[in-house]
Amino acid sequence: MNNKDQVVTIVHSHSLAKEDLSKYFQNTLSLKINKEIKLSDCAYDFYLESITPEQNQELRKKCYLEKIDICIQFLTSREKKILLSDMDATIIENETLDDLVKLGGIKTNIDETSKLAMEGKIDIKTTLNTRLNYLKGKSKTLIDQVLARIKFHPGSKVLVKTLNQKGFITSLVTGGFAPISTFVGDRLGFQNVISNEFEFKDDCFTGKYAPITAGKNSKLDYLNKLTEEKNISKSQVVAIGDGANDLGMLVNSGLGVGYHAHQIVKDSVENQILFNDLTTLLYYLGISKNEFDLN
Ligand SMILES: [Mg+2]
Repeated sequence: MNNKDQVVTIVHSHSLAKEDLSKYFQNTLSLKINKEIKLSDCAYDFYLESITPEQNQELRKKCYLEKIDICIQFLTSREKKILLSDMDATIIENETLDDLVKLGGIKTNIDETSKLAMEGKIDIKTTLNTRLNYLKGKSKTLIDQVLARIKFHPGSKVLVKTLNQKGFITSLVTGGFAPISTFVGDRLGFQNVISNEFEFKDDCFTGKYAPITAGKNSKLDYLNKLTEEKNISKSQVVAIGDGANDLGMLVNSGLGVGYHAHQIVKDSVENQILFNDLTTLLYYLGISKNEFDLN
């Protein structure tokens, strides 16, 4: 194995015309394929000798046009030991703090400010503080209503279970709040849940909270802390997320992946999941479908 050897993982929503792709690599891009590994009918690994930036761009452009997800990584540093995952709009469909505010009957343009925060256009901590203020004095039973509305993204359970089974440390790292975060974490089997925590008095929100993950770089701080504690290199971390507050952990992990992400993440992180579900991340790690934990 050469230091410059790269692995290109290709994932489609339906069966791949693998022969066409092989020809494209070899004839159009003049790339030498050292090995092909079938991960499933819709996912393949291609081991290739060093890819130039121009070839990389061409390949990504072609995949985008054909609605194929693609991940390009160096083969020598592919092995991972830690999963860090965002929660809202990544592991689940919901933005749970927005749901909470809406269920509280607060009439404000929550979706718009949430979008601006996730695009990095307004400060996340200010956004959180404003929302918590809205909730002040509301009953904590609103949380049960939020939990009942949670929709897990397809592949979330298989992703976490399979990586647990493979010996990964799995952490849900969210700017969201316990006990919503711990409910999601428990349901999927995350080993760690890192989140902010609501403060209650007389079963009502006080408007205050423990700001554990409220900072711009909180997720990166956790990445640094965990890797130091476990003596695992950051290059052995895979991280996934969709918003501006995920950027620190995505950019500083060995493999950072945007999941149906906001533009700021698409602009800053090369490898993305744009078309398929969360099991795509397992393929990016070289795990084939017959190794998935489907129980
Ligand atoms: Mg998110």
